Amino acid sequence: MQLAKNLERLGTETAFEVLARAAALEREGKEIINLGIGQPDFKTPEHIVEAAIKALRDGHHGYTPANGILELREAVAADLHKRHGVDVDPECVVVVPGGKVTMFFAILMFGEAGAEIMYPDPGFPIYKSVIEYSGAKAVPIRLREENEYAFSAEEVLAGITPKTRLIIINSPANPTGGATPKSEMDKLVEGLQAHPDVMVLSDEIYSQMLYGGRSHTSMLQYESMRERTIMLDGWSKTYAMTGWRLGFAVWPKSIAGTATRLAINCHSCVNAPTQFAGIAALEGPQDQVREMVAAFDARRKVIVPALNQIPGFTCVDPGGAFYAFPNITGTGMSARALQDKLLTEAGVATVAGTSFGSYGEGYIRFSYANSVENIERAVEKIRELLRD
Ligand code: PLP
Repeated sequence: MQLAKNLERLGTETAFEVLARAAALEREGKEIINLGIGQPDFKTPEHIVEAAIKALRDGHHGYTPANGILELREAVAADLHKRHGVDVDPECVVVVPGGKVTMFFAILMFGEAGAEIMYPDPGFPIYKSVIEYSGAKAVPIRLREENEYAFSAEEVLAGITPKTRLIIINSPANPTGGATPKSEMDKLVEGLQAHPDVMVLSDEIYSQMLYGGRSHTSMLQYESMRERTIMLDGWSKTYAMTGWRLGFAVWPKSIAGTATRLAINCHSCVNAPTQFAGIAALEGPQDQVREMVAAFDARRKVIVPALNQIPGFTCVDPGGAFYAFPNITGTGMSARALQDKLLTEAGVATVAGTSFGSYGEGYIRFSYANSVENIERAVEKIRELLRD
C-alpha cells in the first residue's frame, strides 16, 4: 500500500484524542470532569428534533440540491438579515455537513504549493492542518493575551506577501474566547483595499455567543468585502447540534458554484431531514438560544475568577464562545505536561494550548460547556493538586 505523500502533512484535532483518553479512564472506573470538549452540554431544542422526525415521516428521504434546499437557504438569508442587517442572495449560500466542511473547501480552493494562507495561532487546529495538506505555506497570525486574544489588524496586514491568497479570521474565537472589536475589523478591511486579490475566510460560528455587552461584527457587513469574503457559520454551537452535521457559508457569487461542485464531488448534499431541522431552528423560537448563552455567561463568571485563584494561573476575561484560555506559565510546566497531569491526577480533561498552535505554549483551554457544579469541583481538584 502506498499512501499519498500529502497525507503526511495532514494534522488533527487533539480535542478528540483527549475525549478518547477521558472515555478510556472512565471505563477504568475513574471519575472525569470533561472541560475538554468544545460542544454545548444542552440538548437540541425539541421543536428542531420534531421537524427532522416530521420530515422523515413526510417522505423526505432523497437527495436534495447539492447546495441545500431553497427554503433552508432562504431561511439562512432571512436570519442573516435579522442578525447582521445584510441582504444575502440565497444562491450564495451553500449548506454543508458542519462548519468544518466550508473550511476544508475554502482552503482547498485557494491552497497549493507556492501560495500562502494566514491563520490564527492559537486557533482552531484544522485551519493549519488543511492549509499544509493543500501544499500552501501556513502563515500564523499570532493572537496575544495582552489584546484579550483579538487579532491585530496591523499585524495581519504586515504579514501579507504577494503570495498571500487567503486570510482566515475567527471571532469569537476557539480556543481563546477572544472577540475582536469592530474597530480592528474596520482597520483590517481598510488595509485590505490595498490587496484586492486577497480573500478572507471569516469563521463566525460563535457569533451568537458574546458577553459583557459585546456585539458581533460580521465580515458580511462590509460591502467592499462581499466578493472577497467566505463567511462560515452553522447550527452546531448556536442550536446545540454538533452531531447533526449542519453548517453553511455565504460565498462570493463568483465561486458559490465552485463550492457546490466540491460538495457534489464530496457528499452530494446534507441529509434531508437535518436540513428541515435547520429551517425549524432558524424560523422557530430563539428563547432556548438566549437561555443557553445566558447559562454560558453565568459559568464564565464562575470559571474565570476561579481559574485566577489556582497557583500559577492567570486568566483574562473571554469575550465570547465558551472557552477560557488561562496562562499557566506560573506552574513551571509545559501545556502538554499540565494537560496530562490534570487528566490523570485530578480527573479533569482540558486541552493543551499547543494543540492550537505553537503560540499556545504556556496556555491551556478550558471549555465551560459544563455545569457550574462540575466547573467548581474541577477547579477545586486542580487547586488541591497544584497546591502540593
Ligand atoms: N470553527 C470553529 C472555530 C470551531 O471551534 C468549530 C468546532 O469546534 C468549527 C468551526 C466546526 O464546527 P462543526 O462542528 O460545525 O464542523
